[in-house]
Amino acid sequence: MFLRKVVQSGFSGVRNVSGRGGQVLSAAAARKQYSQAQQQGSTVASIRPETSTAKTLMDIGTRRIFNEDHDIFRQSVRRFFQEEVVPHHKEWEKAGQVSRELWEKAGEQGLLGVMIPEEHGGIGGDTFSAAITWEEQMYSNCTGPGFALHSDIVMPYIVNYGSKEQIERFIPSMTAGKHIGAIAMTEPGAGSDLQGVRTYAKKDGSDWILNGNKVFITNGWMADVVVVVTVTNREAKTAAHGISLLLVENGMKGFQKGRKLEKIGLKAQDTAELFFEDVRLPASALLGELNKGFYYLMNELPQERLFIADMAISSCEFMFEETRNYVLQRKAFGKTIAHFQVCSVPSTHSSRVRA
Ligand SMILES: Cc1cc2nc3c(=O)[nH]c(=O)nc-3n(C[C@H](O)[C@H](O)[C@H](O)COP(=O)(O)OP(=O)(O)OC[C@H]3O[C@@H](n4cnc5c(N)ncnc54)[C@H](O)[C@@H]3O)c2cc1C
Repeated sequence: MFLRKVVQSGFSGVRNVSGRGGQVLSAAAARKQYSQAQQQGSTVASIRPETSTAKTLMDIGTRRIFNEDHDIFRQSVRRFFQEEVVPHHKEWEKAGQVSRELWEKAGEQGLLGVMIPEEHGGIGGDTFSAAITWEEQMYSNCTGPGFALHSDIVMPYIVNYGSKEQIERFIPSMTAGKHIGAIAMTEPGAGSDLQGVRTYAKKDGSDWILNGNKVFITNGWMADVVVVVTVTNREAKTAAHGISLLLVENGMKGFQKGRKLEKIGLKAQDTAELFFEDVRLPASALLGELNKGFYYLMNELPQERLFIADMAISSCEFMFEETRNYVLQRKAFGKTIAHFQVCSVPSTHSSRVRA
């Protein structure tokens, strides 16, 4: 499956690629090494410039944590966002969601579940390859597709804690973009303080009866499968000891999706409210062990922080390049505005953001 995707996307080898870097150089040291290499006539490709010494912050072929295979992958991901996302994004912002077709195209191109091992139905790439998908989305300035949440938050819960049946049922179709994933933690009365969730699943024979509501759920409107954080033991010694994760599927009786929320940004992202009213779930809907949900959340949430940070930096890099292009072409008082000190000093500082 991996090879088929590779051939389709023109990419030759994200699997088993690991960053060669390890060694971290300061920007000054990197610049020195780079200019020495140029003087000695060695190939520039062997010394990958850091972003602060590259022509632009979004250049392909930079940063020593990546290698040539990553560059090829980055080219194909960049092409995907430019061709399949950018031309439609304005229309998706009005609709408050992207198209289903986009998800399936992303699946065909091998952009979903990049880090999920191949034996579980994922792509089997490394973290750097997943980072390329995060960064390239931000370089396209299109916030609509909720790919990162689907691939790097929801899928790991299923792979790391799910049964063989759950993995086989969901992971290949999530990699293909046919099942869209969401995670429902936040409630009107529980955000940062996750132990405050009130959604409750009561045992009924071997089934669960789920009641409650969630808010601010990314991919919530389009989701086919939702990891729902719920209380399963109200008598636990602390709230964290009585929380479990349940897999709820679109179309189940009593599972309703509320409106798509209007936001000040991320307008093409279908953030929604979800309602559960006496949703009957089989015992097999439990993800992992009973009352271990909070431990799983603590294990998995750091990865979310990692990609949010990388996406935020990449977004800044895109904005820096937009600004640079603008000040280099906009003229005032007979010069481009880049000549005025007030424009050039902040630009120099922000170009070091990744360094
Ligand atoms: C676009 C978007 C997408 C989202 N996607 C999802 C999703 O897919 N799934 C999901 O479950 N949730 C999602 N959320 C919800 C998000 O996780 C919560 O908004 C977040 O956990 C904060 O909760 P809250 O909004 O209730 O704020 P609160 O917890 O009420 O916090 C309000 C303010 O108080 C501050 N604060 C809270 N506690 C402390 C403290 N101890 N010390 C100092 N300051 C504190 C916070 O930093 C914040 O500024 C999303 C939110 C947004 C905006």
